[in-house]
Amino acid sequence: VTTFRDKHVALFGLGGSGLATAHALIAGGAHVHAWDDGETGRARAASQGVRLDDLATADWSQFAALVLTPGVPLTHPTPHWTVPLARAAGVEIIGDVELFCRERNAHAYGAPFVAITGTNGKSTTTALIAHMLREAGRDVQLGGNIGVPILDLEPPSDERIHVIECSSFQIDLTPSLNPTIGILINLTPDHIDRHGTMENYAAVKERLVAGAEVALVGVDDPYTHAIGARLAANARPEQRVAPVSGLRALDWGFYVEGSEVYYRELGHPPEEAELLGALTGARALRGAHNAQNAAFAAAAGWECGLEDAEIAKGLLTYPGLPHRMEEVGRIERALFVNDSKATNADAAEKALASFADIYWIIGGKAKEGGIEPLRPYFSRIRKAYLIGAASDDFARTLDGALPYERCETLDVATQRAALDALAEGAAEPIVLLSPACASYDQFPNFEVRGDTFRKLVQGLPAIIAAHR
Ligand code: ADP
Repeated sequence: VTTFRDKHVALFGLGGSGLATAHALIAGGAHVHAWDDGETGRARAASQGVRLDDLATADWSQFAALVLTPGVPLTHPTPHWTVPLARAAGVEIIGDVELFCRERNAHAYGAPFVAITGTNGKSTTTALIAHMLREAGRDVQLGGNIGVPILDLEPPSDERIHVIECSSFQIDLTPSLNPTIGILINLTPDHIDRHGTMENYAAVKERLVAGAEVALVGVDDPYTHAIGARLAANARPEQRVAPVSGLRALDWGFYVEGSEVYYRELGHPPEEAELLGALTGARALRGAHNAQNAAFAAAAGWECGLEDAEIAKGLLTYPGLPHRMEEVGRIERALFVNDSKATNADAAEKALASFADIYWIIGGKAKEGGIEPLRPYFSRIRKAYLIGAASDDFARTLDGALPYERCETLDVATQRAALDALAEGAAEPIVLLSPACASYDQFPNFEVRGDTFRKLVQGLPAIIAAHR
């Protein structure tokens, strides 16, 4: 990125995106002064030729900007007081997405830049859009808050479409955020602890769509509904604001009705709604929450100029993301589903609502409230298999409500659940790892937990054969 050629730039935070930022700035001719409180980050940066400079004692009058890693919220008293120092010196504070936007704006590239935010479904929607565009033969770069840091991607051009997931922190650090297509999926009060108030959180998310040429805004919750209405009322002449629903048919906009995705143009009767695709058979888009994600992805595809058939194909062939209701195997009639990403009851609820005849592997380090909120779904569960630290707690909830077994470890639970699923009479039993718990009592993270489950499932046929 050439926006800071010959200028001195402070960079705080040397994780993956910080390093990508350092290299992009250096390649564009900037003088980077990088720092991180962690030894490891500093050592890695130094070994890659990035100049370190302790920002607590640096001369702030020389800096044209402070680039902050998105993990560090602006409102947080950052280590070393980097943010207050920058503010006191009148140095602007920006993030990596801002550098991308400035570069893109400076060259007025023609290819769309699609930016996605929301409380839930960001990664799914982002990955689904990228998949759909790729299947249609477009040149697509996918990253941001998901996967590859934005400045490690191939740079913008007139053909290359960037599909970028944005967290609130990244939006906070991106004053020039002006995507071609801006997506705000939903807003729930989940993450407000890190943003002060719901008003603050919503205001940050609103900026992503306010700056977009085409704003696609959810209408299924009261917060985004209000934002969409306000944007539509104040839309700039060249701006288009379209509502999106995963729940119900709309007078106009993009929506899912039954299991089909439609676009209905403003002022047109319902029978003229355009069928964009169907969710029947889209194995990685099960569940009501995915209808919302699919509606947004179809909308983005439509706005990028895809044919209906290309949108339909993208939905149908989407492979899903690892650890999110990921099908990891089938043994005889039984399907094995890895939903290790479900680290709380809310996320596990989505999986339980999507299947029946479930052999449910749960446990780990419990979150507040446990699995009590999942009681309405117990009728879908044949039996539960408890692992990890939450076992006592969960056993109390399950007592008298569901058959369960204490298994301690994931390998015992997987075996027991598989044998039961195959022995009993369900037409398509589901062995589901959707633990409703953090993983760190037994695993380093949810990814390792999910990968372990996948491997265990691969080893099952031999174990089952030995049992018979
Ligand atoms: P994010 O990137 O916003 O965390 P993901 O796409 O990774 O979202 O999905 C994480 C979990 O959130 C899923 O496993 C599912 O339980 C839930 N989820 C996904 N999409 C939605 C949605 N549109 N509304 C509500 N919950 C959702």
